[in-house]
Amino acid sequence: MRLILSSDATAREIGQVLELARRACGDHGAVSVDMLDGRMVMNLCTDGDGVDAAPFRGLEGVSVVEDAETIYRLAGLQDSPVATSCSPVEIARIDAVIGGDEVVVMAGPCAVENVDDLLRTAVAVKKAGAKFLRGGAFKPRTSPYSFQGIGDEGLEMLGRVGEEMEIGIVTEAMEPGAVEKVGQVADIIQIGSRNMQNFPLLKEAGRQPKPVLLKRGMSATLEEWLGAAEYVLNEGNAKVILCERGIRTFSRHSRHTLDLGVIPAIRERTRLPVIVDPSHATGSSGKVPSMSRAALAAGADGLLIEVHPDPSRAMSDGFQTLTFEQFDRLMAELKRIARAVGRSV
Ligand code: PEP
Ligand code: MN
Repeated sequence: MRLILSSDATAREIGQVLELARRACGDHGAVSVDMLDGRMVMNLCTDGDGVDAAPFRGLEGVSVVEDAETIYRLAGLQDSPVATSCSPVEIARIDAVIGGDEVVVMAGPCAVENVDDLLRTAVAVKKAGAKFLRGGAFKPRTSPYSFQGIGDEGLEMLGRVGEEMEIGIVTEAMEPGAVEKVGQVADIIQIGSRNMQNFPLLKEAGRQPKPVLLKRGMSATLEEWLGAAEYVLNEGNAKVILCERGIRTFSRHSRHTLDLGVIPAIRERTRLPVIVDPSHATGSSGKVPSMSRAALAAGADGLLIEVHPDPSRAMSDGFQTLTFEQFDRLMAELKRIARAVGRSV
């Protein structure tokens, strides 16, 4: 939280604000003081849940209180009195709503490889109950020597299969210049973890009409993630869906650490739907079913799951990818859990 003091704040007022700020930050926090255009600025940091802004509002000597809600004023709850509500994102072409009663499943290969496999996957996942086919034509890979996706050809395949199968298409745009062409095919444009704070890309995605699936950066705090969402919203695109995909921690037993606790934290702070990607979070197909079930029970509005006709020959992320049979089984389980928590799949 940041306090900007009035230019005419007296020494006594400054002292009182500083004392209150130090108390609010506690033993493990800190207050740093700076000057901005001749006015004193206090930055309040804690190692916990942040600082309650309320006692500083209207305090003598304080002219501006900037708290986390100031950062995400469009994503925030605004006037909504119900902390559990969110603004659903509708995709009319396939009659899908993300953030409604139905938990929406997006499934498909990590990367589009060829049209036969893509079509087979679309048939299988749609039959099992997925509303969207998800696959990358442009892949953000750690190494430049790894398979990078088949590019425009893959985009064209997604377009064809999406039309033919009447299934929604989710695919990634990696750079601002590609947003328009990806948007011509995709029902939802994915922005990947590695690009979460690519501000020109976020702004471009905000200037076009397709919904945006914003994956959490692997080392992003909730505030940074919501700040990124705000870049899209601030350009006029209100249709942002958040996707928790695991964060990097000291744990080595799984690829990333799936932060399911972020779901209620998002619900407390914002109106944006949130989905969970247990495939990239866990990095292993054996862990995907349990984390999918947990995500649904924790209140996720959807799931993003990697599925391939033969994961052992997938060109990327095969080890975390489900077979059609595994996906079928998981969907049956998810349907039961959804019923138990008053939703459907
Ligand atoms: C992906 O969804 O294909 C992907 C690469 O995931 P992330 O951006 O979360 O690493
Ligand atoms: Mn992948």
